[in-house]
This record gives sequence, structure tokens and C-alpha cells, in this order.
Amino acid sequence: MFGSAAIDAGLAGILGLLVGSFLNVVIYRLPKMLERQWAAECADFSGQPAPVAPPFNLMVPRSRCGHCGHQIRWYENIPVVSWLVLRGKCSACGKPIGIRYPVVELVTGALFLYCIHRWGATPTGLAWCGFSAAIVALALIDWDTTLLPDDVTLPLLWAGLIAAALRWTGVPLSQALWGAVAGYLSLWLVYQGFKLLTGKEGMGYGDFKLFAALGAWFGWQALVPIILMASVIGAVVGIALKFTSGLREGGHVPFGPFLAAAGLTAMIFGPESILRAIGL
Ligand SMILES: [Zn+2]
Repeated sequence: MFGSAAIDAGLAGILGLLVGSFLNVVIYRLPKMLERQWAAECADFSGQPAPVAPPFNLMVPRSRCGHCGHQIRWYENIPVVSWLVLRGKCSACGKPIGIRYPVVELVTGALFLYCIHRWGATPTGLAWCGFSAAIVALALIDWDTTLLPDDVTLPLLWAGLIAAALRWTGVPLSQALWGAVAGYLSLWLVYQGFKLLTGKEGMGYGDFKLFAALGAWFGWQALVPIILMASVIGAVVGIALKFTSGLREGGHVPFGPFLAAAGLTAMIFGPESILRAIGL
């Protein structure tokens, strides 16, 4: 009844749920790890002894409840299932566990399933799974902290160039290379112009690197559709936040999540269809 393609896609979906569970850890911990690293570097620079802290990375310590410190047991850490069984509450203190955790797992699972369903269990399919995972992590880290860590954006950029060189993305290497260059430079120029005109910083360098990475994955021709799509999504979300008064203090909304969403749209529908959807 089921072909092996359906089994591959199903397994990819399960793998995606597990990767999503790991992404939850990355999204929460990576910015904190960077803060610690910066604090240590500042101390080192000013000649003070480095602050002593227990190890904190993606593996240690084990995950704990943010309210009571209850250590999450392995069976409380099964993607989506545990959250449903626990009804979104910590088993020790009963305080809520954010619905975002299972949502990140489900979205990652769905993206992996989609990629393997569309491209098969091939290098191309796996490459787009990796792209999806990085994009999900970047979108949420930027949303939470307005940071787009180099530890994710730069490997994503390199991976896009390498995938093009290996013909996994179907984008000729020269188009991927110029996509990365033009992606970075175009937003850098916008940033400098905006700064000259208003004296304010409208974006961060992380945005340039993420846009460069998207240029590497989709080729330079996709940059205009992607930036238009990101602007449309950003405007819609901005208006929605205004009406629900969900706008944060200072009204600053990072741009990275919208670039990320546009990147996923380009992966699923193709960059050209974005232009058609916007009516160009
Ligand atoms: Zn608890």
C-alpha cells in the first residue's frame, strides 16, 4: 500500500520532529552561550580573570523546567507527544510549558516531510532539510533576541555555495556566488543609506549575512522576489501586531524572521511564483 517514497517521507517527518526538539534547545541556548562568550572576552580584554561558570552548551546541562528547575526526563522530552500527554504543563510544578516547543517540532517535522516527499531521500532533499532547520532556528532566535548568530548564518551561506557546486540545488555555482555577494552588498548599502539619512540603524549585519545565504541557495535572480516577499510578510505581521498591541517596547521588530519566512516560501513555491503572487 505504501511505496518506499512514502516511507522515506514519513521517516523524514519523524527525524524532523527530533531535529525540531533539538532546535528548541539551540534557539534557547545559543544566544545565552554567545552572551557568556562575549562576557568572557570582555573580561579577558580588560585584563580581569574570566568569570567562572559551570559548563553550558547545547549538550550540558540537561533541560530543566524554567519555573521549578525540575529536570526533564527522557519520556517527558518526546517531541509533541510529551507536551500533549503533560497537557502543556510541567509534571513537577504544573506551570505551563510554552506551546511554541511542540509547534517548532511540528513545523520542522512538516518541512522535513515536505523536502523528502518532493526531492526524495537524495542529497538534494537532505540539503533542503538542513536549510529548513537553519532557517527555523534563525527566525526564532532573531525574533527572541534580535540576533542572527554567525554560527548559523555563515555555515548556511557556505552550505548554499557547496550545494550549488555539487549541483544539489540546481542553481549554477556562479549564480549562487553572485547571489551571496549581491545579497550581502544590497542590504549593506540600504543600511548605510538609511543611516546617512536618519542617523538610525535599520537592520543588523546578521540580516546581510542571512540575505547572502539566501542568495547562495537560490541564486542572484531570487533576491528581488525574496526581499519583496519578506517586506510583504513583515508589513502584514507588523499591522497584525499593532492591532493586537503585541508590538514590543520601542516598536522594534527584527527583519530576520521575515527574510527567513520568505526563504521558506521561495523553497516551497519557487522565487518566480512570489513575483506572480505579489502581482508583478
Ligand atoms: Zn516545573
